[in-house]
Amino acid sequence: MQEVPFDPLQRAAEVESMVMRDGQRKYYRFRASRHYGGIVTADTIGCPFLCAYCWNYERNKCPEKEGEYYSTRDVVKKLTAIGRQKGIDLYRISGAEPILGQESFEHLLQVLEAGRFIIETNGLILGSQPHLVEHLKERNIAIRVSIKGWNGPSFEQLSGAKKEFFMFPLFALKQLIYQGIDTWPAVMGDLFGREGTERLTAQLEEMGIRTRIEAEYLERYPFVVSNLQHRGWKIGGGIR
Ligand code: SF4
Repeated sequence: MQEVPFDPLQRAAEVESMVMRDGQRKYYRFRASRHYGGIVTADTIGCPFLCAYCWNYERNKCPEKEGEYYSTRDVVKKLTAIGRQKGIDLYRISGAEPILGQESFEHLLQVLEAGRFIIETNGLILGSQPHLVEHLKERNIAIRVSIKGWNGPSFEQLSGAKKEFFMFPLFALKQLIYQGIDTWPAVMGDLFGREGTERLTAQLEEMGIRTRIEAEYLERYPFVVSNLQHRGWKIGGGIR
């Protein structure tokens, strides 16, 4: 059982060693989904965060127990085969964080060969190692950075990671936008509310970032409601 709050960089390294092996990464499903108007999705496991609202919470809590290793070649083959069958030319990795460290980042770069890609990331590793962003330039990608709070305490409560790491995803966002990559932030609208979103907007503006913020909506699975309660989060309870 992961104690919270934890050091997410340490967790990223531990998780990467569980889900990567000789350049191969663990996945548990390949599918077409309706998001973004139709996208082919490779579902993976392993994340430096353990968000109270994560729909893949159990797999990400114990990534060593789940999934099978796939080479980048096999992932590209599977994605493009589904894409051809469904008439979709847009791809993503979901279910967990694609970038856990150097090895998973290199794996991702090769999987991008599938075609037009949306990278969904929590921004932790790109924010802590901004030089990686260089490798994402001039690729056929857009990047959605999921922001877990509007300040340190809300970030810690939602992500399970120590509040000192709150700024890392914002650094990633800034660097990605600065490098001219199509990037935008997303938040869990039901948990941020208007006030949390306004506070985040103010924080971003202070950093010179003016951008739209996508609002996601909470899937209120019983385990999600229970996880939020365990973290002391009152849904609709307002801002901390
Ligand atoms: S960052 Fe995403 S994948 Fe990781 S725990 Fe949070 S919701 Fe789940």
